[in-house]
Parts: sequence; C-alpha cells; structure tokens
Amino acid sequence: MMPLEFYRNIPGKDCSQCGAQIVEQHESYHSECEYCLSKVEE
Ligand SMILES: [Zn+2]
Repeated sequence: MMPLEFYRNIPGKDCSQCGAQIVEQHESYHSECEYCLSKVEE
C-alpha cells in the first residue's frame, strides 16, 4: 500500500447507509453520515 493512499483513506470516510462522504468532525466510530445518524435516532 502506498503511504499517500493510506493517508487519504483516513479522512475520506463513506457513510455505510447512503454512501455519502463523511467529513471528519464527529466521533470517528460513527460510520454513518449526519443525515443517516439523525434518522437512526428516531
Ligand atoms: Zn448517510
């Protein structure tokens, strides 16, 4: 694996529900985007 690819994979997370890219600003253990998280908490 190339170091550059590994580094880019850290902030580039995809939502496991809708596939939208997640901006790293919430708890890193979440695998869903803000939209899907709000739906789950219903
Ligand atoms: Zn989502």
